[in-house]
Amino acid sequence: MDLSKLTITEARRALDAGEYTSLELTNAYLEAIRTRDADIHAYLEVWEDNAREEARAADLLIKAGKAQPLTGIPLAIKDNMLIKGRIVSAASKMLEHYRASYDAFVIEKLKAQGAVLLGRTNMDEFAMGSSTENSAYGPSKNPLDLSRVPGGSSGGSAAAVAGNLAVASLGSDTGGSIRQPASLTGLVGLKPTYGSVSRYGLIAMGSSLDQIGSFGHTVADTKVLFDATRGHDLHDSTSIADYEPSGKVPKVIGVPRSFLSQGIDPDVLEQFEKTLESLHARGYEIRDIELPNVPYSLAVYYIIMPAEVSTNLGRLDGIRYGLSVTGENIQEVYGKSRAAGFGPETRRRILVGTFVLSAGYVDAYYRRAQKVRSAIRDEFVQAFASGIDAIVTPTTPSPAFKFGAKSDPVAMYAEDVFSVPVNLAGVPAISVPNGTVEREGVRLPTGFQIIAPHMREDVLFKIGEDVERA
Ligand code: GLN
Repeated sequence: MDLSKLTITEARRALDAGEYTSLELTNAYLEAIRTRDADIHAYLEVWEDNAREEARAADLLIKAGKAQPLTGIPLAIKDNMLIKGRIVSAASKMLEHYRASYDAFVIEKLKAQGAVLLGRTNMDEFAMGSSTENSAYGPSKNPLDLSRVPGGSSGGSAAAVAGNLAVASLGSDTGGSIRQPASLTGLVGLKPTYGSVSRYGLIAMGSSLDQIGSFGHTVADTKVLFDATRGHDLHDSTSIADYEPSGKVPKVIGVPRSFLSQGIDPDVLEQFEKTLESLHARGYEIRDIELPNVPYSLAVYYIIMPAEVSTNLGRLDGIRYGLSVTGENIQEVYGKSRAAGFGPETRRRILVGTFVLSAGYVDAYYRRAQKVRSAIRDEFVQAFASGIDAIVTPTTPSPAFKFGAKSDPVAMYAEDVFSVPVNLAGVPAISVPNGTVEREGVRLPTGFQIIAPHMREDVLFKIGEDVERA
């Protein structure tokens, strides 16, 4: 069976036509994982027996004519979404043996469709990072060049699909963790509108920024996963009511020119310009726009996000969840458990977050950052109200980098320059493959990011498919 770039659309057709069964398809992926994942390390755990069971159940549904879009489709899940009875570690030593007591909302939805869950994928610890080098279990590799990172934090979910070790996958995006790895591995990555997909059962990183989304080989595949996982959920107080896209065809694309000059590789910019030209040739109007506060996004994100991280990870204290190291008194249990359970980047962010929230500094840092965040959000809303249907940027300033190349944390944070404004504003965005650039004799993918108004994923799918055809 040829699994190379197999899409949900094609697998659906073949399963429904009886060309192969879900069990055969699932076995083919399990075999691929067995032979190739030792090199790629996309998965932290593979659920062979369970996946086969799910495939058999799916085959019965397909035979009975009851197939839904994801029935029998083998998927990979980032290791920060709860699946009842399964270990969910967020790639941390802290939760190495922690088992979920319920299904995340998205998992319930996938199970209801009869999807096949192959396993849980590697990530940066608690989703903090852009390379998976912060995983407590060793990094994932980029299937296109094993000497390079697949991006992060959802690097395992990207590597699984790019390496043909799953048809598609779920990831989470707090500041770019779906779009950046999608860009670095040549996939489509969708970050939906904040609140459109429930966070119930997602291990929280920055709660006001976190969003579950999907990886696929095509825009159409990310849409199938979005439609399958969205919907209102009473368990998530930020969940928004279900909505129908307005259907208005997008015509005007805004390019924030002055923002784009921020440390971008010339050949990445060239690929971006080429795609702009072909969109223009397809009839889109391309308009230069100004977003004066958006360049502050990275600074704002690296205050608000650690503040929320420090609060969210407070529950991991050696008592309530996960790793517990004994001590003379409760303080010592807290200290020793957290020192043993958290890696260096997680500790750094807890410290920064605690600092920016501390009594003496909360006004200077956290509250000020919140004000700039509002200004950034308003800028997007105003741009969209002024007749711009979508805003586009490259997804990342450069293609996949080598392991260890960004050991300076600030250099790593700069990876997110184009992706974090989207999370601060809560708007949806997609990264679509945008041609390749050469590094040391290897052609590496780049990504084209499309940003739409709140609840206008339809705009992303429309323009995204035009970029695919470009
Ligand atoms: N790379 C960003 C960070 O390290 C984004 C992470 C994410 O989206 N989960 O915070």
